[in-house]
Amino acid sequence: MNGAEFAKRLAGELPSQASEVGILRQLVRGEVVVSGDFAYDQARRVWNGMIDRRPGAIVYCAGTDDVVAAVKFARSRPLLVAVRAGGHNIGGASVCDGGLVIDLSRMKQIEVDPVKRTARAQAGLNLGEFDLATQAHGLATTMGVNADTGIAGLTLGGGFGKLGRKYGLTCDNLISVEIVTAEGRLLHVSATEHADLFWAIRGGGGNFGVVTTFEYRLFPVGPTLLAGSILHSYDRARDAMRFYQAFASSAPDELSLDAALAMTPSGERVLNISPCYIGPIEEGERVLKPLRTYGAPIQDQIAPRAYVEIQSAGDALFPRGRRYYWKAQFLRELSDPAIDVLLGSYASAPSGSLLVLQHVGGAIGRVPMTDTPYVNRDALYDCFPISIWDELEEDAPRIRWARELWDAMRPFSTGGVYANNLGEEGAERIEAAYGENYPRLLALKNKYDPTNFFRLNQNINPTPETTRGR
Ligand SMILES: Cc1cc2nc3c(=O)[nH]c(=O)nc-3n(C[C@H](O)[C@H](O)[C@H](O)COP(=O)(O)OP(=O)(O)OC[C@H]3O[C@@H](n4cnc5c(N)ncnc54)[C@H](O)[C@@H]3O)c2cc1C
Repeated sequence: MNGAEFAKRLAGELPSQASEVGILRQLVRGEVVVSGDFAYDQARRVWNGMIDRRPGAIVYCAGTDDVVAAVKFARSRPLLVAVRAGGHNIGGASVCDGGLVIDLSRMKQIEVDPVKRTARAQAGLNLGEFDLATQAHGLATTMGVNADTGIAGLTLGGGFGKLGRKYGLTCDNLISVEIVTAEGRLLHVSATEHADLFWAIRGGGGNFGVVTTFEYRLFPVGPTLLAGSILHSYDRARDAMRFYQAFASSAPDELSLDAALAMTPSGERVLNISPCYIGPIEEGERVLKPLRTYGAPIQDQIAPRAYVEIQSAGDALFPRGRRYYWKAQFLRELSDPAIDVLLGSYASAPSGSLLVLQHVGGAIGRVPMTDTPYVNRDALYDCFPISIWDELEEDAPRIRWARELWDAMRPFSTGGVYANNLGEEGAERIEAAYGENYPRLLALKNKYDPTNFFRLNQNINPTPETTRGR
């Protein structure tokens, strides 16, 4: 029986579905949801409402033993597999048509060691849950800017956010993981155990196995930091963006300065600069003074805020279930011509669209490019237009706007892209995400997953066995 046949069987198109699901239910402690179950329509959904797939079954793993069982079950058929944690991948890679979704979202244990400043966190936690648990001890590590995102997908692809310039990428602060390989083996992986695999999973995404537990290094952070937003009107945005470029490119590591072209609730276009100072409030007041006294901002909401509040400040913009499209690329600087392109393009953006500049650099840029697969360390901004809408009929114009802006910004790009911001954009873009590290990743994919069992991801497609070594 081939994979496609089995996927059909699990999708209920062949008569023996019930017995196959019955076998799976006996093998795991967690819930198994299939088509026809009350929970199915909810269970097959991910964050992006554009994604409408119908897996054969979804297994909500209750623990690492369930992950091992699900991998072995899928492998022995064989069966198409998607691995889901927070469900935030923009292209919906964590859910499949037919086949089996291995869902980690109910595995949410976390242990924080405040003395060693480490955390062991199960893969089903989202960023908000992780931050709350670590902040209870006044600690944190780099995580992204939306509390609902899964720690798993974020960490495996790199991971940056407000703390990145000070403490490096999330994957730079990984001490070890527990991972279930394509053969169904459970491995403890660190700099000293299966070191090659440890290299691969720090940026190489879901290509190498299912990670069940992450161990992170933590740092004292907050609990209160100086952060918020400052708005400039669109007619003054050109000069404000030039000021922003100069300020962001000379910022200390403690200062993270994300920015966005955005629309107010009344539809007015604005430049929104969102600083966050990772250090004492008084020091932050001094460092942020030039930003706050520049020009004539229409709003200044910078104030001491709880770190966990800062981390979820943008959540309302990205609820689950709306339709989303984005296309990202890295920039080393915002030159005057690049600013003109951004402002010109955003002037005709459909309602609700955003143009985001996530500030990277700092400590991220001081880790050698080959230390982990994440290669885009020389960038200063991750630049991406985001379309957000609800109506199916709006898909084409919304996607077109984002792609056109991306195309127009191409001449200013480093050529690189963040693997975690890729949708289904093809092999060339995946190679662009890994640059000089791609051949090493490919060799490790050939070693750890030669049959491409884990293929629904930013896929490192293994070399066919017949041509290997030629
Ligand atoms: C609103 C929003 C804000 C974001 N902000 C940031 C940000 O600030 N910084 C940043 O770095 N990124 C950010 N991202 C991108 C984010 O890092 C990726 O979308 C990431 O894939 C999310 O992980 P997840 O677990 O939620 O995703 P999922 O969709 O569940 O998983 C994505 C992929 O990761 C792999 N995967 C997931 N879990 C596992 C596992 N346990 N073992 C092996 N493979 C696994 C699989 O290949 C899967 O296809 C953001 C995304 C969104 C939607």
